[in-house]
Amino acid sequence: MAGAVPIELGPPPERGPDPAADLVPDPATAAQPASGAPSRGGPGAPSHGAPAALLRGGRAKPPRHLSDLDPAGRRTAVQELGEPGFRADQLSRHYFARLTDDPEEMTDLPANLRGRLAEALLPPLLTVQREQQCDGGTTRKTLWRAVDGALVESVLMRYPDRVTMCVSSQAGCGMACPFCATGQAGLTRNLSAAEIVTQVFAGARAMARGQVPGGPGRVSNVVFMGMGEPLANYGSVLTAVRRITDPAPSGLGISQRAVTVSTVGLVPAIKRLAAEGLSVRLAVSLHAPDDELRDDLVPVNRRWKVAEVLDAAWGYAAATGRRVSIEYAMIRDINDHAWRADLLASLLAGRLVHVNLIPLNPTPGSRWTASDPDVAAEFLDRLAFRGVPVTVRDTRGTQIDGACGQLAATTRA
Ligand code: SAH
Repeated sequence: MAGAVPIELGPPPERGPDPAADLVPDPATAAQPASGAPSRGGPGAPSHGAPAALLRGGRAKPPRHLSDLDPAGRRTAVQELGEPGFRADQLSRHYFARLTDDPEEMTDLPANLRGRLAEALLPPLLTVQREQQCDGGTTRKTLWRAVDGALVESVLMRYPDRVTMCVSSQAGCGMACPFCATGQAGLTRNLSAAEIVTQVFAGARAMARGQVPGGPGRVSNVVFMGMGEPLANYGSVLTAVRRITDPAPSGLGISQRAVTVSTVGLVPAIKRLAAEGLSVRLAVSLHAPDDELRDDLVPVNRRWKVAEVLDAAWGYAAATGRRVSIEYAMIRDINDHAWRADLLASLLAGRLVHVNLIPLNPTPGSRWTASDPDVAAEFLDRLAFRGVPVTVRDTRGTQIDGACGQLAATTRA
């Protein structure tokens, strides 16, 4: 099955990946019985003290975590430890509502049980390898190290009216967009749902504890715009979205409407997402209105053309009632021509859409740079003139290589 073959970064794919199945095995569910329940707690499951199971390529599989499981799965897991199911609810309240994973703080649990439950269901998945800050500490990028050594980054951005966590869905990325730092190193592996949720948990906890300048607060928004192509890791991303948006103590209780899934345009996966009954926002990284250029800028366009991607986007808008974001990195003399603005406007006019123009963040070794501000302004004017809602994306975090497209932990570490 195509989904079992990891896509390695090489020449852009002639035929893109098959997103009907994930590109690489979902680490939280791989090697599971076909019943597919994300439970690894059955007889014979490795305890966390035992060597972790190996992923393809010799990497250790991330251990199972509370965040991989829905409330029923958590109760089953706790019962498999010989404890009553309600202990799972207590554990969930500590983790998702009180934002603690420290057994010592779980004083409503019998002392001899705390450590055992935490060891089984709250194993450390990501440890901080490095943290960088700018904007007076209100933008902070974290480099995380997974148990198998895989590196991923997340970025917290505090604004006056909201706090956004930009999270990674994969270590590396297999989509090979030539202007994106992550795309240059290829795909290492998919993250598990819990590895994704952990990034949000860390931000939520830092906010709750008042560790981000501006006083205690909450993470209000989550964007899947860190490393990786979220729709190429569909199962884990969907589970993570549910854990992030389920009301506490089932999940972190962030509004679905405040979660954005950003994609290069994996058409079957967009259609599948539209049918999930969620109200998360979809962002499509278009970057060019014509196939000739988009084939180069977003190589998966060779499989799914601009027209098909936009069709799927309009289907998503119709199914969810949500305005679709069109992401467009402004690259000097590459995609910023007036005629391309007009062509883009003609594709988008009258649609439930919002265009984000992102000044290109030049990445090391890239021959490309950001559009001249006057050229970008004219591009914006041409869209606005045709009635297409459009703004220029704020590019926080450039100084710490934490802005759009700059996350490249695998190459720098
Ligand atoms: N794989 C997903 C998420 C990736 S990053 C996707 O492609 O949508 C989120 C956004 O940053 C995407 O729109 C991506 O195209 C954009 N991006 C990547 N590299 C960039 C760069 N160097 N400058 C500006 N934006 C970039």
